[in-house]
Amino acid sequence: MDLIDLHQNTEWPARLDQVLSSSPVDWAERRASVQSAVPPGLARLQRMSAVPRFDLDAVDPVVYEGILKEALLAAAHGGAVYTELRLPQESVVHPQFMERFEAARASVTETYPDFDAGAILSMNLWDPMLRELCDAFGDAAAAGLSGIEIIYVPYAAEADWARGRVVAEAAGAAGMGVTVPAGAFNASNLASLAEIEQIGRIGHAVGAASDPGIMRLLAERGVTVEVCLTSAVVLGMVPSLEAHPLPRFLDAGIPVVLGTDSPMRMGTDIAGEYAKAASLGLSRADLEAVSSRAKAAAL
Ligand SMILES: [Zn+2]
Repeated sequence: MDLIDLHQNTEWPARLDQVLSSSPVDWAERRASVQSAVPPGLARLQRMSAVPRFDLDAVDPVVYEGILKEALLAAAHGGAVYTELRLPQESVVHPQFMERFEAARASVTETYPDFDAGAILSMNLWDPMLRELCDAFGDAAAAGLSGIEIIYVPYAAEADWARGRVVAEAAGAAGMGVTVPAGAFNASNLASLAEIEQIGRIGHAVGAASDPGIMRLLAERGVTVEVCLTSAVVLGMVPSLEAHPLPRFLDAGIPVVLGTDSPMRMGTDIAGEYAKAASLGLSRADLEAVSSRAKAAAL
């Protein structure tokens, strides 16, 4: 069965730290200490994201391409035949960022000929340049960008989706798909997002399980949920793997795909995510359905 990862961050600050820092973060150690010392939820997410920031706009384009290649190589090595890599919004400082992505992808296929990858751009809704970025969607799509991910604040409380709707419509008009991470720690934002036509996928959505109305809404609209099992446990979206609502999503008729989220920081790969899904009781046929869904749901 083809293992497809539809939720993978580039993790550029963490990967830059590994390359450029004299004392890079030891992620196995960091995971263990954060899980024991920081309560689950947003605080833990922030602690896991706290790495020395190296400015991407000060980074040589060759280093930028090297980081994309490392992320894609790790995906291929971890068993993925396809990954959809989330490029940091800061990528736009490199006007040729899609050419860099394409070069990184091509070089990975020299080692892994069956591997393929798509790129989506993370967009920060608070960015003052948002309007200009939306105006560039047509060119970006023509250069091969498949879609966008919308990042917003507050992440764990109801956000204002007026700007988000405009961005989603602009992406849709350029022929690109839209995904949004939401509902990691509670049910906030899920109902609002399900109402925006261009949003075909939601990342995490663990909080939906506490609200039968939202479960129904996601199923009726056919919104695909990107489940990241290791990340959900490390960040404390669920108290344990066994408590993850993945089997309930499937029972409710919600389309599900799998993802690694931040594989380097979480210490996982897509083969590990499929194995964890199997340990939750998904049959071979269930996993094949997840894989085919991922083929259809790739942006
Ligand atoms: Zn994520």
